[in-house]
Amino acid sequence: MNANARMEQIVGLCKRRGFLFQSSDIYGGIQGFWDYGPLGVELKRNVREAWWRDMITLHDELGIPAGAPQSFSMVGVESSIIMHPQVWKVSGHYDLFHDFMVDCRECKARFRADHVKSSECPIKPSKHPGEHDKCQLTAPREFNLMFKTIAGALSGEEGTVFLRPETAQGMFVNFKNVCDSSRVKVPFGIAQIGKSFRNEITPRNFTFRSREFEQMEMEFFCHPSESRAWYEYWRDRRYNWYLTHGIKSDNLILRDHTQEELAHYSVGTADVEYAFPFLDAGEYGELEGIAHRGDFDLRSHMEGKLVRQNNELVVEKGEGDAPKYRGSGKDLSYFDDQSRERFIPHVIEPAAGADRATLAFLCEAFHEDEQPDEKGAMQKRTVLKLHPRLAPIKAAIFPLIKKEGMPETAAAIYRDLKSAGIACIYDQQAAIGRRYRRQDEIGTPYCLTIDGDTATDQCVTLRDRDSLEQVRVPIKDIVDEISRRLRA
Ligand code: ATP
Repeated sequence: MNANARMEQIVGLCKRRGFLFQSSDIYGGIQGFWDYGPLGVELKRNVREAWWRDMITLHDELGIPAGAPQSFSMVGVESSIIMHPQVWKVSGHYDLFHDFMVDCRECKARFRADHVKSSECPIKPSKHPGEHDKCQLTAPREFNLMFKTIAGALSGEEGTVFLRPETAQGMFVNFKNVCDSSRVKVPFGIAQIGKSFRNEITPRNFTFRSREFEQMEMEFFCHPSESRAWYEYWRDRRYNWYLTHGIKSDNLILRDHTQEELAHYSVGTADVEYAFPFLDAGEYGELEGIAHRGDFDLRSHMEGKLVRQNNELVVEKGEGDAPKYRGSGKDLSYFDDQSRERFIPHVIEPAAGADRATLAFLCEAFHEDEQPDEKGAMQKRTVLKLHPRLAPIKAAIFPLIKKEGMPETAAAIYRDLKSAGIACIYDQQAAIGRRYRRQDEIGTPYCLTIDGDTATDQCVTLRDRDSLEQVRVPIKDIVDEISRRLRA
């Protein structure tokens, strides 16, 4: 199957089974915005939960995680989407967060200047924009990606605020609050999951490039002399997170940025990239960037917007000698009471996208094969081989027939699983083979069938989605057995 056909099948499955819909679908949709349906919302919650579990819930600050230079603390925050406008001036987003766009006067389409060579001409898709006789491309023009809105009754510049284009600034501006209010000591990390907004010029490739999306970001504050070791630690750990949640290493790369690609403040950056099916063979799309940001962010929020001059970061000057954009003037340095040293911590930032990760897990999980039905005839099957912890539904419970007490036993098992917090489905419609296929298509890892022997042996058949292995499990052990498999 070619890459585009595969992607079309994934998109089709997402709509048919309620993973993802176009936003405002009944009005024809709105470009760059997506809605998660009943199964998609569960899948994305599980992706977020897997990230939060790894970063915060299961983080053990009394021990040293494998490969880490030392023990550390991790805490979370949830900051507001609209922040003080000065935050974006000082961070550089107000002046620098833009793309160059090119318009076609003929067909009115708009392209990112750096994407023209990989885009299709809307008049003749086999050509790139600018290659058709009728194309009339403008020169590249700057376009700020931040969405503006108005807070309060003031109009004009005074009331203008921005929807955040990243969650990271919410952690930097709360660095002092977190240090003052909790017992964290450097090194430590502050993590956050939340919506970000970018007025992308050409949103495309399903949810990969959207205008409203969710980020999972963490800012890790450490001593400057240890920052390189922490950068390497987080870079490797974040890459491995995708592997342990089901992405195959053949489809995932960790790519170090070249010197030219590095942001002006960055000492080093690596991207975790996935071979999405909508890309050509050998191409990868970014899932997450892990950046060594030095003291750029904390210093900016202290002193004002920084620029690099002669390889040094200095406050950018505006009128006269005053900073172009003033920082908060608050002291964001850190005092280490053991070494008696005061310093501005360096920052390592793993910045991931919840929607891109969800899309990568869906693409990786999508498989088609053939399996024998009850009569031994081969049937085509679509199966989402999602990691059991990410699967929206963990177990489906089927009474083989709608009589002889089977529905009652099945309902009791369904309720036991539900009260143990395990997402499950009860299904008594259609032949058992069809019920299995319905669950395979949405990635349910375990199906439990209550049959004629259940009343005598008090066991049910547990079928594994991937190995298709079937084992008998005593009813009394089912909750433990499913929980054990989900923990594995
Ligand atoms: P790109 O180069 O693809 O535009 P970026 O380098 O600007 O991405 P970052 O600013 O590093 O992205 O954001 C961190 C993460 O947020 C990205 O790795 C990605 O997973 C997610 N992300 C960024 N922009 C979008 C978007 N428009 N739609 C969906 N996810 C996004």
